Amino acid sequence: MSLTPFAYDLDEAQIRRERQKARELRASQWWKRRCAKGVCHYCQRPTPPGELTMDHIVPVARGGRSIKGNIVPCCKDCNIKKKQLLPMEWDQYLSQMHSQNNYE
Ligand SMILES: [Zn+2]
Repeated sequence: MSLTPFAYDLDEAQIRRERQKARELRASQWWKRRCAKGVCHYCQRPTPPGELTMDHIVPVARGGRSIKGNIVPCCKDCNIKKKQLLPMEWDQYLSQMHSQNNYE
């Protein structure tokens, strides 16, 4: 058996549990308050609450948990980019974003 960087010891049941917890959090007051701020966690752009989507900073499929510290509201643009980019490219995108936002 070879070791790969993405060889996490995840079983299907755990992934299902985390996804279920995410659904519960999505229905919570905590999540409604997060969305009510109307700001994307990643690009900080004002986004109508109805257009914010729930994102796991570390995806469930890579061992991320459905806990408040790992769940953020993000806009569709960021959500799509995060899915398309490699983790390394996504990190670069974020650091560019944050250097642009330095004036705040
Ligand atoms: Zn965004």
